Amino acid sequence: MSRSGWWEGRPWRLVQTNLREMDMADIDAERYVASLRDLEATVAMINTSGIVASYPTALPFHTQSAFLLGDDLAAIIEGCHAAGIKVIARTDFSKVRYELYERHPEWASVRADGAVIEDAGDVHVCPSSGYQRECAPRIIEETITVLDVDGIFFNMAGFQTHDYRGVDHGICRCAACVEGFREMFDLPLPASRDVDDPLFRRYLLFQDRTIRTSKERMDALIRRLRPDVAIDRPSDDRGGFVRQESSTALDRTPPEWPYSASANTKWVVSSLPRTVSSNSAVDFVDYPVRHVSVSPDRQRLRLAQSLANGGGLDHYVIGRLDDRADRSALAGVRDVFRFHAAHEEDYRDLRSCARIALLTGRHGSTDAFRGWFRTLAEHHFLFDTLLIDRVSGSLLSHYAAVIVPDHEPIADDVATSIDRFVEDGGTIVATGRAGWRDAELEPRAQPALYCLGIERIREVRDDVRGAYLAVDDHTGFPRLADTDLVFVDGMYIDADYRPGARGLLQLIPPGPFGPPERCVLPAATREPGLVVHPFGAGQAIYVPWRCGAMIDRHGQTNTSSFVADVLEHHAGLERVGGNLPTMVEVTLSERSDGQGLLLHLVNGSGAWGGTPPVTIHDVEVVIPSIGEPSDVTGLVAGRTLDFHATKGGLMVRIPELGLFEAVRIQRT
Ligand SMILES: [Zn+2]
Repeated sequence: MSRSGWWEGRPWRLVQTNLREMDMADIDAERYVASLRDLEATVAMINTSGIVASYPTALPFHTQSAFLLGDDLAAIIEGCHAAGIKVIARTDFSKVRYELYERHPEWASVRADGAVIEDAGDVHVCPSSGYQRECAPRIIEETITVLDVDGIFFNMAGFQTHDYRGVDHGICRCAACVEGFREMFDLPLPASRDVDDPLFRRYLLFQDRTIRTSKERMDALIRRLRPDVAIDRPSDDRGGFVRQESSTALDRTPPEWPYSASANTKWVVSSLPRTVSSNSAVDFVDYPVRHVSVSPDRQRLRLAQSLANGGGLDHYVIGRLDDRADRSALAGVRDVFRFHAAHEEDYRDLRSCARIALLTGRHGSTDAFRGWFRTLAEHHFLFDTLLIDRVSGSLLSHYAAVIVPDHEPIADDVATSIDRFVEDGGTIVATGRAGWRDAELEPRAQPALYCLGIERIREVRDDVRGAYLAVDDHTGFPRLADTDLVFVDGMYIDADYRPGARGLLQLIPPGPFGPPERCVLPAATREPGLVVHPFGAGQAIYVPWRCGAMIDRHGQTNTSSFVADVLEHHAGLERVGGNLPTMVEVTLSERSDGQGLLLHLVNGSGAWGGTPPVTIHDVEVVIPSIGEPSDVTGLVAGRTLDFHATKGGLMVRIPELGLFEAVRIQRT
């Protein structure tokens, strides 16, 4: 069945009221719906099933709520529908009540010391167990046949190792895991969680296959019973939604990742075309502080990032909206939700105009990815992120360049697609250990990407602290005009390259760095800091050190200038010009009918949402390769904007930029 789902092309403004059990005691359907309408929500997510059944259940393994005294779920759902609000059922099969565990101790996750994990009267259950394999599908069947819900969300799906306090309990060692792993690989469970341990790599496959099998069965069941229902992270290609979160946490190591909502949104929008990106702006500070909100500016920024990158809007609170103890962040949410409601038509049927794809995925290097993301954003390159597992020739055909930031696992067919893409005229920029492992995380004898021109890896050096690159020729490095050195930290890869590969910048090995009397630079070697390899009609650029990770960790201009110059002057990639400060993120989308464009500017000043952004005056944006439009309107400003054609593209002037502006560029 290829019929479109209700979520496709529908304005998505989701509010998740993460109900506590006692919220059902006095919930009032009319008030509940009114609280959603105040935010102009189009989708609600309500707890229905799993840990607690929020409706009368007939299943003996589904713990009935003791608080079903207020309006019932059927009435609430009916009220939502009457107000044009779709309802997604929130389910959670990661835990069961203690009484249920006592009847079925074989369902529990088991730690290495033999203990089970109990939290607030709930016990963690294992995805390998009979509960998740047999009971969860029956609970879902009851939920979607008894309740007129429009979607299903699975909270904490997969193998969980942490509890809500952040305690790491290690991998599950229950009988079902021991037996399942032995059946699959004839091996005992691993002792370590080190990806260099072959046993642990097998264990990761066991996890993947276990989860995939049960998700496919669950999704098939839902499609059979209710083909109209939107599924969270569907295992088929019929679309649904992907739920993620932008949150803060008390013990998270700073700095905060400022592009959280942008990055969460981009990969879904670009990799899964029939799927809505629903990245939640989490109301609270952290799990232990569920009842106090983050700042309204932080919420506005997260939501603006989601909008700018083609995602839906999503807001999540603990409990209900009508009896919040802290209401201070709601104003921020209301602002962006209402803006979107007022401009729904402008946000319909958009697709990204970016010609650069930054690849991402599981088991990648988060720090390397973030460093490249940040440099692309701060230097105003228009880019998407693509899930590396989804990469194919047809997906790559939308792009002029791909960036692979030290991403080790690359499947054979993906590597072939990328090689062909470069051979046909595309550009690749890769760093570090890109493609050194296969899709099952096994180390490869040779890096997967043939186009890079790597003949042989001689050595991976981890002793390069204090090393530099000599910039003896500044051609192609205008941002490094005032320095003859780029510093290197972390790792450097000694390699031989095939004929035709051209090395630039020479490695200066670490020399003495103290006392001052000894701080003399050694002579430069012939090892390159950058390798350019023409391949077919395209070119490959390889950086044999972890510049992206350094940008994420240190954020020095010395590194980001090098990366930006590589992108602009060696990879030849266009960027948006004008006088935009680095803290303004820019995105460009096109209507699928080709009639117009939507340009977003998101102002990250004000410590990325920690405080209100600084208003920026007289912003000029020059968008390359855009012809003269008939009209340019700032949707936030609510007025037409000055524009004119320049040699570099279309120049648009924005007199005042607050948190964000959405510029509608009409072609006819
Ligand atoms: Zn287990």
